This record gives sequence, C-alpha cells and structure tokens, in this order.
Amino acid sequence: MENRVPGDLSPVPEKIMSPTGSAHILVVEDEPKIAAALRDYLENSGFDTSYLERGDQVEDWLATHPVDLIVLDLMLPGLDGLELCKRLRAKTDLPIVIVTARVEEIDRLLGLELGADDYICKPFSPREVVARVKAILRRIRAVPGPGVPGIAMDEKTQRASVDDRNLDLSVVEFQLLKILVSQPGRIFTRSQLMDAMYADYRIVEARTVDSHIKKLRKKIATIVPDREVVFSVYGVGYRYEW
Ligand code: CA
Repeated sequence: MENRVPGDLSPVPEKIMSPTGSAHILVVEDEPKIAAALRDYLENSGFDTSYLERGDQVEDWLATHPVDLIVLDLMLPGLDGLELCKRLRAKTDLPIVIVTARVEEIDRLLGLELGADDYICKPFSPREVVARVKAILRRIRAVPGPGVPGIAMDEKTQRASVDDRNLDLSVVEFQLLKILVSQPGRIFTRSQLMDAMYADYRIVEARTVDSHIKKLRKKIATIVPDREVVFSVYGVGYRYEW
C-alpha cells in the first residue's frame, strides 16, 4: 500500500481485487475506528484506499496522489469538510461522498449546492457506503451517448420512453421525471422538485410530490418491472438512477 500516509500504523488488510480493477478511494475521517471500518469494507470489495485525518492535508496530498473518489467526513480538524468540498469542487469533478452525523443536516447541505455526489448519515453501515461508492463509480464510468440504457426524454413531444416504449406520462409527471433524469444520482429535495414543477409551489403540499412519484413509478414499472429507477432518500427526497 504505497499510498498509506506517514504515521498510519494500522495493519494492512489483505488486498482483494475486483474483476473491474481497483479504484482508489480516499477516506478523510478523524475517527480512527470509523476510518478503519470503512477501509476494511472498501478494500474487501476490491478498492485501494488511503486515509487522511485532517481536512487541511487533503489538497496537498491530492496534488501527488490521484484518486477516484473521496469519502469525506464533515467535522474535521484543520479544515472542515464543507469548506474542503467547496474548494475541491472549484477545481475538480472528483466524486465526493459526504458523511454527516445528522440526517437533518443533509437537507441543509443540499441547499448549499456543494456539488457532492452523495450524502451518507452516521451511523452508517460500511456495507451501505460501499454500495453507494460502487453506484457512483458505475455512473461516472458510463459514457453517455446514443444507445445508453435509461429513460429517453423528448422535450418537443413531451414524451418519455424506455426502449422506444412510451411511458404515457401526464404533463406534471413528465416535468418531474425530466428534472430527476437530468442529473442521474443527484438527490433532489421535495421543495426543489416542487419548485421546478409549479410556478408557485407554496400552494402545493409536499405529499403531492410523493403521489406523483408513486404514479410515475407505477408507469415505469409497467415497462421495466424488474428494476427500481426512482429512489427515495429517507427524510430528504428522491433521486433517479438507471
Ligand atoms: Ca469527524
């Protein structure tokens, strides 16, 4: 593990390669137990990992160590995760998964539009983190273009289709799906969705979004019964992922 930081005395877990080769994940976390659990799970899933404990070590370190994704704790010594995420976003598209201690915090973070790729709340299961990391890397590596699987949105005809089969959406459902599909993997809050769907969303209740999502899912399921594409993010909102 050539990328372990000086002073990192934790034992090196046996490396297991995944069939896709090993992406390199940087874990920035000041709680050694959490960092160790994350690294164990990530490495056992075939990832290479490195570990930094301070926010202010990250930018310099990245200059000489290319990584594929960062798992970033918010409360860090030196430089907090929020500020670090902003700085990194200003210069790189490197995927960032933010780890926060409070689920209510996620809503506020989304409002700040930090550009993080996902948010995870403590206490999390390392297994869940690995699943999210894999999903993000899959998404990033999928080259968009003709023939990409997923839902095709035709703005002109207001028609959404899968494999050329029309989903037969209402105007509102089309708007809703269009927003979600525009940024796969991004979590949208209910108010962001309402804002985009209605000129004056204050007159609409949050559960209206839920009921439209329900109908939308039903229509998608008639064509693609075996997969979920519109995901609920507990306490926050929704995201689309093919
Ligand atoms: Ca912390």
